[in-house]
Amino acid sequence: MQVLKFGGSSVADATNISKVLDIVSNVAMRDRVILVCSAIKGCTDILINEGPTPALLSRHEAIIRRLFTGAEREAALEECRSEFAAIGPDTPYREAYGEIFSTRIIAAKLACDGLNTLWIDSRSLIRAENGRVIEKLSYPYIMAMVDSHPEVNVFVAPGFICTDREGLVCTLGRGGSDYSAAIYAAGSKASGLEIWTDVPGIMTTNPKDVPSARTIPNISYKAALDLANYGAKVLYPPTVAPAMDAGIAINIRNTFDPSNPGTVISDKGESGVAAWTGVASMSQGDESVIHIVGEGKPKVVIGQERASTVLKKAGVQVTEMGEEDGSIRVKVHKEQEREALEAIHREFFEQKTTNVTDIYIAGFGAVGKALVKLIESSRARVADTTGRSIRIVGIADSRRYVIDREGIRPTEVASRLKEGISDRNFRDAVVESASRGAVFVDCSDSETLYEAYGTFFRNGINVVTSNRRALAIPYAKYASLKSEALDNGVSFRYDTTVGAAIPMLESLSGTVVNADSLQSIEAVISCTMNNIITGYDGANTESFATLLRKAQQAGLTEQDPRMDLGGQDALRKLLILAREAGVPLEEKDVEIKPMLGKEFFDCSLDEFYRKLEDDEPEFIAREKELDDLGQRQRFVASLTRDARSPLGFKASIRMQLVGIDSPFYWISGTENVISIRSDINSSPMVLKGAGEGALFAATGIIGDILGV
Ligand code: ADP
Ligand code: ASP
Ligand code: MG
Repeated sequence: MQVLKFGGSSVADATNISKVLDIVSNVAMRDRVILVCSAIKGCTDILINEGPTPALLSRHEAIIRRLFTGAEREAALEECRSEFAAIGPDTPYREAYGEIFSTRIIAAKLACDGLNTLWIDSRSLIRAENGRVIEKLSYPYIMAMVDSHPEVNVFVAPGFICTDREGLVCTLGRGGSDYSAAIYAAGSKASGLEIWTDVPGIMTTNPKDVPSARTIPNISYKAALDLANYGAKVLYPPTVAPAMDAGIAINIRNTFDPSNPGTVISDKGESGVAAWTGVASMSQGDESVIHIVGEGKPKVVIGQERASTVLKKAGVQVTEMGEEDGSIRVKVHKEQEREALEAIHREFFEQKTTNVTDIYIAGFGAVGKALVKLIESSRARVADTTGRSIRIVGIADSRRYVIDREGIRPTEVASRLKEGISDRNFRDAVVESASRGAVFVDCSDSETLYEAYGTFFRNGINVVTSNRRALAIPYAKYASLKSEALDNGVSFRYDTTVGAAIPMLESLSGTVVNADSLQSIEAVISCTMNNIITGYDGANTESFATLLRKAQQAGLTEQDPRMDLGGQDALRKLLILAREAGVPLEEKDVEIKPMLGKEFFDCSLDEFYRKLEDDEPEFIAREKELDDLGQRQRFVASLTRDARSPLGFKASIRMQLVGIDSPFYWISGTENVISIRSDINSSPMVLKGAGEGALFAATGIIGDILGV
């Protein structure tokens, strides 16, 4: 028997429930399962504060509508409505019923999917007194239930809810579904207990406080219990004892990343080596009580000294430092909790890196912000895998800059920038302050910043850029920038300028594909165009103009979206792609056919949108025609071998019709696709993936920084 428990966020909506069902059906293929679920996210709070509101019923109905069709849908809706109606204003423990609602739906769905499923009522199986389960009574009920239904594959049980000795409904306390699961596991003598939640296991601290927190792969029952007792909400403390007494390991895993093995809580958690394991915190009035928990009795006095030193350095005022059952206890003012946790986490749980890369960031827009955030959240992982760390020593937005050789904390970038210097040139300041080996990161959209790259190179500063304006310059300038970097022994990396984190340039700059062997590059690389074209479905969607306007408002287009429609953005990318393959393509060599006539470009933006609305009937007709033909329109940039043209290649950007066999047919949103043909390979190499989005760009930039 395997017991699987899913928390509130795992069953929050139909999409998440479908993930739960996948996980459960996989386990059910190899063993019998008791599935314990929480109420849907937020449900218990609403039941406590407001009762079974119409809005809460609607949320359940929406889930049912997404999961079922036909008669099964009607039956599930009816059942849900009658369960809601049964709860009156005087119903005692009305908050206990959220788990009944959720599990009835899930059990019905599993049965529909063909699993031999039985919903079991925790009210008749789990007896408790003051929030503590009476094991002597409950275990035999559970065992009898399981034994009397040998044909059942999946038992589905509501967590949290139970009854007292008199058979009156009560609960196991907030967060109690974890505890229900442990009781089911011990009662049925299960061989495994998995608690599935929204984080990949018990982590070194709450990742919501410290983004660089890491999963603890193995931990002892005692240390897990300590962390839970001291505030790590991921595990409800009473859960540990029944599992430990029955010798069952608890595996905590992430519903949204099922391939992650998560944390195993067991006897084997203790390696015998004394080490600090994690840090937890909880509020006590206007103070925060922080506990640093360890395994194998690490030396508390030395730990306290380390904690005091780093907290002092971080400017955190400690109101009390003590010991509690082998853990270090630190009290601080509540408003300094996060700073304290960060400082402690860094000192105790993050790799000390010797190799620090200093970076200067130009641009604090969407990409710059995502980069700063990602530097913070990936810190521990980067340190573990590369032994390196990235330190921000300078940053500029369009108005101000800050430089601090000691490093600027990612969380403080915005506030430090507000007080930054506005009267001098960031580029000069960078050259003055940077040591050799530093990296200048251009995530601005400046047209002229590239002019400083040469100076950077001569001063031993590497450049990483996501700014494609800096590369879509005349070929001679571009080539001289590249050779200047080479001559000065520094790196010049711009992998994110085309296709964000998809390694498009990498696959062209290798030795295999070059100007001699290349036959063609065909690419759908204009994210804006993709987004609008794939989002538009004639009369079934909003008008073309509305979609475009929304894309503009969401920052997916250039300030004037006609730059994208006119192919300017695709042009820059095509130039970069071609040059990477060794073809010295210039703007004038590219034949661009915008998707709209000239009259759309020679007017004001307002007028442009008006014209678009006027033309909507034509767009609809065109879409219908294509639908009938089974074809799609795509805005394709291409570079094709052509012996007659002086470059040996001809280049174009235009609308093309593609059929179902084309790699460009199935794309959605801002996906990018590139197809490269060469003499080396008989079939094209096709790369496809999310081509836009600040997070992808930031991921690629970090790769570039670590690659210099
Ligand atoms: P569920 O609804 O699945 O029971 P909970 O909200 O009860 O989930 O617990 C998961 C949350 O616990 C996480 O989202 C995380 O913010 C919080 N948490 C606190 N401390 C830790 C920790 N040390 N490791 C992991 N998560 C933690
Ligand atoms: N639904 C209950 C709560 O929110 C129990 C649980 O989710 O574990 O506290
Ligand atoms: Mg919980």
